[in-house]
This record gives sequence, C-alpha cells and structure tokens, in this order.
Amino acid sequence: MGEEFESGSVWLVGAGPGDPELLTRKAERLVRSATVVFHDALVSTGVLDLVPSHVRLESVGKRAGRHSIDQASIDKLLVQAALTGEKVVRLKGGDPAIFARSGEEVAACRAAGIIVRICPGITAASAAAASLEMSLTLRGLARKLVFVTAHSQAAEPLTLDWSSLTGPDTTLAVYMGKTAADEVVRRLIVAGLPGTTPVALVENVSLPEERQILTRLSRLPLAMRTITLSGPAIILVGEAVGQG
Ligand code: SAH
Repeated sequence: MGEEFESGSVWLVGAGPGDPELLTRKAERLVRSATVVFHDALVSTGVLDLVPSHVRLESVGKRAGRHSIDQASIDKLLVQAALTGEKVVRLKGGDPAIFARSGEEVAACRAAGIIVRICPGITAASAAAASLEMSLTLRGLARKLVFVTAHSQAAEPLTLDWSSLTGPDTTLAVYMGKTAADEVVRRLIVAGLPGTTPVALVENVSLPEERQILTRLSRLPLAMRTITLSGPAIILVGEAVGQG
C-alpha cells in the first residue's frame, strides 16, 4: 500500500493485457513517479501513453523469432540504472509473475543489493475470460485451472507432460501457443482430451483489434488458418469455455 519509490530501487510492474483502463492505480502511480521505464513489446501504446514525457522510456522488447535483446542484458540494464540512482520501472505485459522472466530480474537485482518489488497486473487468461463472458472455473465442472506456455527453446519439441495438464474438470490456458497450436491440439487429443472439447482463441485481448475464435479442439488448426493472426493470442481449452 502506497510504498515509497526510493531512488535506486526497481519495481516490476504488470501492465495488464492492453486496455489502459485495466492497469491498476498503483501501476499508474509507479510509471508516473519513475525516472526510467523499460518496457516489453507486449505493452500497448495506450498504456505507454500514460508514461509522462519527462520519464525515459526504453523498449527492451523480445519478440518470438526476432532476437533483439537477451534476458541477461535486460537484467544488466535494470541493475545499472538502479545503481546510478534511478527509480526504475520494468513494465511487463499482463502479470509480471506469469511467463515474464521476473525470477531472473528479481535475482539479478537482489544479487546487486537493489531493492526490488512487484506490482501485479491482469493476466491474459483473466482478460480473455472476461471478454468471452465466461468463468475460468465452474462449480463441479471446472475445478482446476492450468496456465501453461507452449513456447519451447528454439527448434526443440514441446516437452510437457500433457496428460497431467488435461482432464475433464480442467480449464487450460495456453500462453504463447499460436505457433505451436497444431502440435498442442494433437498432443492434447493424444493425451485423451476429446476433440469436441470447447476451445477459444483470443487475439489482442482488451484492445480494439481483439478477435475471437470459438470452436472445438479438433477444429482449431483449421479455424486458425482462415484468419491472419498477427497479435498475441491466448488459447483457452475446457468445458468452461462458452458456458457463460
Ligand atoms: N505476463 C503475461 C504473459 C507473457 S507471455 C500475462 O500475464 O499475460 C506472452 C503471451 O501472453 C502471449 O504469447 C499470449 O499468449 C499472452 N498474451 C499477452 N497479452 C495478450 C493479449 N493482449 N491478448 C492475447 N494474449 C495475450
């Protein structure tokens, strides 16, 4: 609550899914009182517009397939800025605690003796459920919620234990699953999930360009081929999808 933003400290801040209204008041306060903001490619322009012009804004975006800046370099940038006495915000899409490499950044700051704190954000799965007007959990029907990333190390196969991820009472939220969608679908079906299981893919959740595909598991690959997806997309799988 209202923590100080000391010079020489770092805040990892969740920017939410894109709609600036889905930013927390705390996140807004922190970006306004920072001296420098390092942000991801995922952070929307609407959110970046809230950063005052006197605050230095630096993009450290990593995009799948396009290698711009590696994690160790980002860790170093945060540490160096804090050591020179800046108030550092590391602004991340969604929630900093979900598939956002926060662990490395926290560890790097701590190793350098820098105070580091985290401000949560609304994660893509929550925002997608809201857009779809559905609940991720449903009494008796969806008792388990699994967040998984389908992103693997370059050219390596996905090494997830799919049978442990799926079950009739599970809602699965697949992050970074666009490229690997065909394989995800195939593996889920091999793991025993019926091809008729409801699926939603939501691209650019909460932004004006948002698009949704609502279909069944076995039909997702074909449905995805009918449109060009250029933004980030999350895939939700399970009986809760489409049940309102
Ligand atoms: N920390 C983020 C996740 C980062 S991983 C969070 O909590 O949401 C990046 C993945 O998140 C994307 O590949 C996509 O699967 C999902 N994602 C993030 N923002 C999204 C958006 N606006 N619409 C759809 N998916 C999104």
